[in-house]
Amino acid sequence: MKTSLPVLFLVSVSLAACASVKNEKIDGKPADAVSEARTPASSMDEENLEKTFQGLLGAEDADLRIQGYLSRLVSIYLVADGAVKQFDRELEATLRSDALGSVLQSPVYPKLLALYALTFRERTKIAYVYRRLLETEKDRSASSQQQQNARRARVNFEVYLFRQSGVERLALHDVLLTVNDTREAMGLRPRKVWDPRTLVNRLRSYRKEIARRWRAETEVNFALQNEVGALASEIEKKASSEGRSPQSDTIYPNPGKAGNISGYNFPANTWTLTYDDGPSTKYTPQVLANLRKHGVKATFFWTAQNLSLDATQEIIRTAMTDGNVGACHSYTHANLPKLSDEALRHEIVDAMDKSTEIYGVRPKFFRCPYGAGLNVPRVRQLLADQNLIHVFWNVDTLDWQDKDPESILARAQKQMAKEGRGVVLFHDIHPQSVIASEKLLAVTAGKVRWASLPEIVDEVNGKAPVSP
Ligand SMILES: [Zn+2]
Repeated sequence: MKTSLPVLFLVSVSLAACASVKNEKIDGKPADAVSEARTPASSMDEENLEKTFQGLLGAEDADLRIQGYLSRLVSIYLVADGAVKQFDRELEATLRSDALGSVLQSPVYPKLLALYALTFRERTKIAYVYRRLLETEKDRSASSQQQQNARRARVNFEVYLFRQSGVERLALHDVLLTVNDTREAMGLRPRKVWDPRTLVNRLRSYRKEIARRWRAETEVNFALQNEVGALASEIEKKASSEGRSPQSDTIYPNPGKAGNISGYNFPANTWTLTYDDGPSTKYTPQVLANLRKHGVKATFFWTAQNLSLDATQEIIRTAMTDGNVGACHSYTHANLPKLSDEALRHEIVDAMDKSTEIYGVRPKFFRCPYGAGLNVPRVRQLLADQNLIHVFWNVDTLDWQDKDPESILARAQKQMAKEGRGVVLFHDIHPQSVIASEKLLAVTAGKVRWASLPEIVDEVNGKAPVSP
């Protein structure tokens, strides 16, 4: 089955249209008509997702409706991801023009972060529904009709994803990884995806073709494009992403400037490396080995939900033994500004409790997912109450959307040359990030000073460094 991307889009959009009409009905149902969620929801988002899933599963044509729902998530993901790549090109242009200054000051940047939040959100939803389908298939308390529907929807979704080739497969690569992560977390064998080298080669040969198809597609599908635009600007509005103003000289837990690090007031040529969103059983150990090889200590902003797998225990211990810093990145990677007070406490306080228990030491640093919440007083106050310093960044490698390690490296070097000091952002959950960050350490060896975050904070605060 070979479907071209435009056809794939059109199919998913038409399915999506019918799914959205039906979704209104589901969401409109009184709460007691929706069966009780069996999985404890760790956030408001998850509760809503479970409600939607139960509504779809309970429908007569459940398999079709679940497929429609999943297709719609994929469509929104694809349009948002395409827009991210457009913005990336604009940022590249910004980087080339000295007059415009740093990439973080570009008006494009907050839009990019918002679109990132959107692609992340759609992948999180896909992972959730996919996991629930696998669970329902084996759930003895589900009716045999429900089990059958879940199986049919799951198999069709896999066919739709994994039988693509060429440009289509490349566009969907991150979704395939998301599905595979879910499979692995449930003890199932992952399906075949491209290795990093193949991925980079395909990316180079298809880059133009993807951009062309994305443009053609979004010109046809105004509705979806507008919807993605609206969703992204909603996120952008809620997630003010400033934190770029020069800060006072002292750094300490505080809801104001003193409680946020962006790297602008570090000593000249002093840099710290940060990794977000792990730990990953596949990629974090490789990152740790690279850091050890170069004698560099990094800070890891891990989400509390990822700390629950037994498989990560050994990785976390190794990281700490090596002298790296374990920091907190919320519980479920939620968009903090839009949460209720209760949900916000879960994302910060519960996440801190769990991190403390697993790290064996209480984290001193926190990073809001997508940097969202930096200028939201109730978020910052809660962080300060938890004795946390927020850590932003001033070099964004965009390693989550760029699959090419060489171009990630080039982007990092360009920004570092402009900034002269600061915080570099990578993610320890992507193969390209492992390769690019190792290359960065190799090319900068002896030229810049890599230091650990606590070390730099002590220096900025005028204390004698604790570590040599
Ligand atoms: Zn993150």
